[in-house]
Amino acid sequence: MAHSAVSQVYVSVPVGSDSSIRRSAFKTPYVSFRDKLWTPSLALDLKTKKVQSGRQYIVCSVQQAAKQKVAVSPLVLEDAKEPPLNLYKPKEPYTATIVSVERIVGPKAPGETCHIVIDHDGTVPYWEGQSYGVIPPGENPKKPGAPNNVRLYSIASSRYGDSFDGKTTSLCVRRAVYYDTVTGKEDPSKKGICSNFLCDSKPGDKVKITGPSGKIMLLPEDDPNATHIMVATGTGVAPYRGYLRRMFMENVPTYKFGGLAWLFLGVANTDSLLYHDEFNKYLQDYPDNFRYDLALSREQKNKNGGKMYVQDKIEEYSDEIFKLLDGGAHIYFCGLKGMMPGIQETLKRVAEERGESWEEKLAKLKKNKQWHVEVY
Ligand code: FAD
Repeated sequence: MAHSAVSQVYVSVPVGSDSSIRRSAFKTPYVSFRDKLWTPSLALDLKTKKVQSGRQYIVCSVQQAAKQKVAVSPLVLEDAKEPPLNLYKPKEPYTATIVSVERIVGPKAPGETCHIVIDHDGTVPYWEGQSYGVIPPGENPKKPGAPNNVRLYSIASSRYGDSFDGKTTSLCVRRAVYYDTVTGKEDPSKKGICSNFLCDSKPGDKVKITGPSGKIMLLPEDDPNATHIMVATGTGVAPYRGYLRRMFMENVPTYKFGGLAWLFLGVANTDSLLYHDEFNKYLQDYPDNFRYDLALSREQKNKNGGKMYVQDKIEEYSDEIFKLLDGGAHIYFCGLKGMMPGIQETLKRVAEERGESWEEKLAKLKKNKQWHVEVY
């Protein structure tokens, strides 16, 4: 079946961004993001890849998806045989510029998560699944006189960035807040330094970055028809957004994905879903290549009547998952550290029910490089 000729994708613009962008945005049709706080959008012509406002940047956001794949450049980003690693180090970081900061969760989400686009002008290239370090401004509270320590953030875009030109990097950052254990009230003096710096930053602000780092979550591309089972809690979805853009949104001559990508995402409730519209679009356009399962802990119940966590979803599909793993599928876990014990317990139980030793199976998955974990 011929792909429908979608020639435009709509690009939402962060509230509070450059007013000239916002003005031009109002001339284009309205696009809603789960009826949340989004301003109308810019139209991005996929044939010319130019934003109709004529701005230098294509300010892209989390809601891009089109069946006709988007051209990317520069394709020289495909040439390297090894991923870029630690091009910038804490002593000599690269000073990048914030392009946009968007809150991407609804009002009923517990906490705030932001999608942050950073302009590195092509100077800090990376591959999908890597992380950047960010050095927040100010003095290290634990080492007076010294700069703050680096914090790592998984990259939430493909190597071409949200503007498809290899010049930007997107991060998915949850604002770390502190609640007093006695009063239960938020204590702003103990809020997370870097996540608050990033979520409060404005377009044009400077940000010191290091990296890129990490190899464990790189997308193995030797077999374009492989199966990739991706398990995330919250911002752990970041690397998968990068993979999925490469698989389904971008026209990458050297990677024509024809396998199965199966995303399990665990968040608190519907308002906490991240990049949901983008993922739903892949589901519509590539139903044979993409599966998307959600665990909404505060809205859904598991089979025992308890909260629905991502491991409960894994258990629900354990037969299929085990078969896929036996057939060589890759499985990835990313998100909060606390997710792993429950998942491991579930997998162990399922393995035992199937008469298999989980320890042996896990050792084999690790040996075959099918098992990828990045938790924090
Ligand atoms: P910090 O200032 O480092 O504080 C840490 C915590 O301590 C906060 O919750 C803070 O509220 C609390 N705190 C501060 N002072 C006190 C006190 N006096 N008493 C008790 N508690 C206190 N995060 C993301 O959001 N998205 C990602 O994609 C992501 N990817 C990551 C990838 C990797 C490989 C790793 C290792 C981590 C990743 N992280 C990610 C986590 C991120 O690196 C930071 O750890 C996180 O943003 C918190 O940093 P912060 O500077 O905001 O908090």
